[in-house]
Amino acid sequence: MVSAVEQGSVALPPLDFSALERPELEQAAIGLGLPGFRGRQIFQWIHHQGVSDFSAMTSLPQELRAALAAHGAIAEPTLMAKQVSSDGTTKFLLQLGDGRQIEAVYIPDTPAQTFCISTQVGCAMACGFCLTGKMGLLRNLTAGEISGQVRVLAKETGLAASAFNIVLMGMGEPLHNYDATMKALRILTDDQGLAVPPRRITLSTVGVLPGLQRLAEEPIMPNLAISLHATTDEQRDVLAPINRKYKLRELMDVCRAFPLRRRGRITFEYVLLDQVNDTPDDARRLVRLLEGIQAKVNLLPLNEAAGIPYRRPSDERVNAFAAILAERGVTVSVRKSRGRDIRAACGQLLVETVK
Ligand code: SF4
Repeated sequence: MVSAVEQGSVALPPLDFSALERPELEQAAIGLGLPGFRGRQIFQWIHHQGVSDFSAMTSLPQELRAALAAHGAIAEPTLMAKQVSSDGTTKFLLQLGDGRQIEAVYIPDTPAQTFCISTQVGCAMACGFCLTGKMGLLRNLTAGEISGQVRVLAKETGLAASAFNIVLMGMGEPLHNYDATMKALRILTDDQGLAVPPRRITLSTVGVLPGLQRLAEEPIMPNLAISLHATTDEQRDVLAPINRKYKLRELMDVCRAFPLRRRGRITFEYVLLDQVNDTPDDARRLVRLLEGIQAKVNLLPLNEAAGIPYRRPSDERVNAFAAILAERGVTVSVRKSRGRDIRAACGQLLVETVK
């Protein structure tokens, strides 16, 4: 029997369909007098086929497509501009429905292609070396806006059908927008959508402890990266002010207890600032902090920028720091910076047009 909604005679409430998980869409369909599979089809069209226009959902009855278009929305971020770095890294300026703008980055490493996406417009965490932190928090992104960045980048790069990694390391602190972030991860990992395996997703946090404790209980477990950046509370209070609330010892205790998948490790991100946190004593303290944690350390020599009061250390200082860690059995890498010429590197995302 054709329902009233399928006939187009019932008004649907305005709804961002891209922000709904598959079970929610199935329930929404049933609530509208439709069979549940219609919700599943809409989910597949949006998240598997990458369709952002109801009229293109050709497996749905025409009347239903018209009704959805009249009363629903698919809030996909709009591509406003893109800049390609000399190393192939591409920065995307995306506009949201309310006119706010965010940035997302495609990093074309082989074999792993990576999309770096944002979870907030701006960020409240105010890390001392980060341009995004200078913006303050303008608003949280919705689950549709977070997952929508991946759809836009997958389409733009032609990678929708390929394996790619996602890192939640763009603008914002994911655990400060917990519910929308986790909902986006459920959407992105759904096997009827983009089906991104959780092991290909990395959530990076500066250490919002209540969020980390909730994350430890989640059925979907992304890889975890902790933005550490300092080895004493005194230093970290300045470089990552969240430390004034949640001290280093508490953070490391939560990391020590964090459930990891088999052979899993926590990545500790450490921005190296010349003469600030890059001394041999810092390196030795870092080794001690990591005791008892399955850890690897990613060293990030600072990407200098106007308005950031720190300098990038010399390669000699970076190598000496890395050597102290390696000699003591800590797995360490030095991140080669991508996209520095287009200000797409870590900590450099900033939307200048935002008022
Ligand atoms: S480093 Fe991350 S958490 Fe800190 S201010 Fe920048 S975006 Fe926010």
